[in-house]
Parts: sequence; structure tokens; C-alpha cells
Amino acid sequence: MSLLVVGSVALDSVETPFGARDNALGGSATYFSAAASLLTEVGVVGVIGDDFPLEQLSFLRDRKVRLDGLEKVPGKTFRWKGKYGFDLNSAQTLDTQLNVFERFDPKLDAWARAADRIFLGNIDPELQLRVLDQVQKPKLVAADTMNFWISGARKKLLELLGRVDILLVNDGEARQLSGESNVLKAAHAIQQMGPKAVVIKRGEYGALMVRGHEAFHAPAFPLADVLDPTGAGDTFAGGFLGLLDRLNNHDLPALRQAVVMGATLASFTVEQFSMDRLRGLSMRDAMARFGQFKALTHFDELGEV
Ligand code: AMP
Repeated sequence: MSLLVVGSVALDSVETPFGARDNALGGSATYFSAAASLLTEVGVVGVIGDDFPLEQLSFLRDRKVRLDGLEKVPGKTFRWKGKYGFDLNSAQTLDTQLNVFERFDPKLDAWARAADRIFLGNIDPELQLRVLDQVQKPKLVAADTMNFWISGARKKLLELLGRVDILLVNDGEARQLSGESNVLKAAHAIQQMGPKAVVIKRGEYGALMVRGHEAFHAPAFPLADVLDPTGAGDTFAGGFLGLLDRLNNHDLPALRQAVVMGATLASFTVEQFSMDRLRGLSMRDAMARFGQFKALTHFDELGEV
């Protein structure tokens, strides 16, 4: 099985009520591949500038992530600056510098073109489309986006959505994209735009998946210490698609397990800044927490009352 991701590989400057980091490793493709590589073979398509500290990616190489599609070009790496308030639920973007992404024109190699599944991570929809055009016969196309592109590149985004099987967005993005305030109505409206299934991530309140008229909800893993929510959504997507690729299955029971795997891996990311927790994470730790999820949500039938 094989899974391809296109998205940002970034240097993030993040401030939360519990600390701050400058120029830390970030980006949608980076978080995604760190998570998905625990489960399956992942390849990254992206671009970095000549200022990028390549040694920071050595843990991805150790996890056998294919980085041949990560181009290094003269110029500055993508940079994002954000801040979180006391409830940690949504990031306020202070600055986005596309830099080398502005002129990135990816050419996929034979492995990438033959990928079984593809995740079009949060980046310019024009670029997401250019990558999708080169993949020959994917069994599953999933995508993410954010407010920056929903308002700035809506037309291209709608073109993309017509070709996407599963859209993963947070609740604010789902509302903005659909114009619906209620998340269930938002999910149904997004399905009309193309995706057969929609996963709406709700931060500490969990994630809702809607496919047709079926819905599944998983809570977020309850944690006492959350330091930095950056990358939770991309880590979720990495766990979700990594498991679907590993299982080679997209039926409803597999999708439900994938939602829980996404929530499990995302819960590790938020425990530390940047990739500090994901970097050393083992599948053993992940499986233990996956099991705790079952206990967290299990209850017995009530019988007669
Ligand atoms: P999330 O999982 O939603 O918290 O994603 C956080 C990551 O998204 C950060 O590491 C940023 O580098 C990256 N990011 C922020 N804004 C953008 C954007 N406009 N395009 C692509 N990536 C972005």
C-alpha cells in the first residue's frame, strides 16, 4: 500500500498561553507524514528553501518516509506565525509567508504517480489540483483546507472538491465553506460539493464523520496538559489515512477505526510544542492509547429499567 501527501513543510512561530517557539518544524505535510508513517509507507511532495534545517527531518527518514518529492530550491521556506488564546481551540494567524511555495510546480516521480491513496494537505488548491492531475488511479482522494484558501481561492477549491472523496476540515472551516452554522447541516452541504464523506474536527470536543446519512463521533482523548495544538488536524489526517491505507479498506467500520486512530495520534501532538512528542512516538504508545479510547467510550446496554 502507499500514501502520498502534498502540503506545506514549514517553519512555524507559535505562541500559546503555555509557551512560545520561533521557527520550529511545522507544516501540514510534515505533521501528516510523521503520523501516517507509523502505519504505512508515505511519500511527501513539497518544497523547502535553502534556509531549511534539513537535519530536523531525520526522524522522518528513520521512519522510511520518502522525501524524494521534497524539493529544495533557492529562497525562503514557507513560514506561518500563529497564536492561541486561553481555550486553545482556534489559532489566530498572525502571518503567512508562502515564499518558495509561490512558484512551486511539482513533478511527481513514478512511485508518487502510482500511489494508492493521496492526501491533499492544506495548501493552495491550485497546487493540490496540479498534484492530483498527476496521480494515475488513486483508490482514495482526501483533502484538507483552511480559511486562508476558502476565502482567497474559493473557485479553485470548489473545482478540487468535485474530485475529492473525503474532506477533513475543522468546524470553523466547515461553517465558512458551507455557510451553515450547524455542523451536521454543514457536512451535508459539503457533500453536495463532491466529497462522499466529511470529517469535521472539533478540537477538544472530538471529531464527527458524516458519510451519506450515517454519522460517527469520537471524543478527543482527555488530557490534563495541552501545550500547543498546532498540527493536531494534520496529525489526525495522518492517522486517519495511514490506517485506511494499512487496512486497504474504506468501509464504515474501517472509517470509524480511522477516526479513532486520527484522534489518538493527534492527542500526542498537542502534548508538546512542534513535533517534539511525535518525533519519538512509537506504534506501541499509540496502540495503548487507541485501546484506552475504547474504554473511554464503552458503555453497557441498559436493559429493562
Ligand atoms: P493544523 O493541523 O491545522 O494545526 O495545521 C498547522 C500547520 O499548518 C502549521 O504547521 C502551519 O505551518 C501550516 N499552515 C498554516 N497556514 C497554512 C496555509 N495557509 N497553507 C498551508 N499550510 C499552512
